[in-house]
Amino acid sequence: MNARPSITFEESHILTSIVGLGSNLDSANGSKLDVIRKAIKELGNLSSQPYIASSFYESEPQGCPPNSPLFVNSVVALFLPVNTDLKSFFWSIQRLEEKLGRVRSGFNNQPRSIDLDLLFFGDISLSSDALTVPHPRALERRFVLEPLAEIAPDLVLPGQKFSVQQLLKDLPQREWVRKLEDGKINDAK
Ligand code: ADP
Ligand code: MG
Repeated sequence: MNARPSITFEESHILTSIVGLGSNLDSANGSKLDVIRKAIKELGNLSSQPYIASSFYESEPQGCPPNSPLFVNSVVALFLPVNTDLKSFFWSIQRLEEKLGRVRSGFNNQPRSIDLDLLFFGDISLSSDALTVPHPRALERRFVLEPLAEIAPDLVLPGQKFSVQQLLKDLPQREWVRKLEDGKINDAK
């Protein structure tokens, strides 16, 4: 297996963005795993250097209706040209959710074929009705921190004092997350 390159937020010509992926509904677009794989591939096309995706993880639903199906989760680090526009990038992510069969019922936390959350976009902080970056709940969620700790254990995220590994260690043990399949570094570019 390839040694993983290190992920940093401190390069002058590259903007690192981290997207969290989740699926808890098989659909016409494929199984939960298939849709996560497709989404990673498409997100990777936005990256100007090989993207870095974590393994796939299974997690118990958080704050969802009773008997909601288990989730498959992953995170992917993308390396974007430094002048990438945040709102256009977020728009691309939302279009991708639609393309992969996300239907918004109007009810919160319903099962979904794909959920793409923009966790970080360089060290930019922004809060508007439609978008808050960094994602406000990213670092409270084991299904985010566990995959993130796999691809970037020593990374200190924008606005944080502690590394990802440390944040994960200090997270209260509430929910379970287990690794399913090895992730990939895309060497195709
Ligand atoms: P959740 O991801 O919390 O389960 P949804 O996917 O339904 O819920 O998203 C609800 C809303 O959150 C979306 O309409 C989107 O505009 C908004 N949102 C705000 N900030 C972000 C972000 N950083 N990433 C993704 N969605 C976000
Ligand atoms: Mg979402």
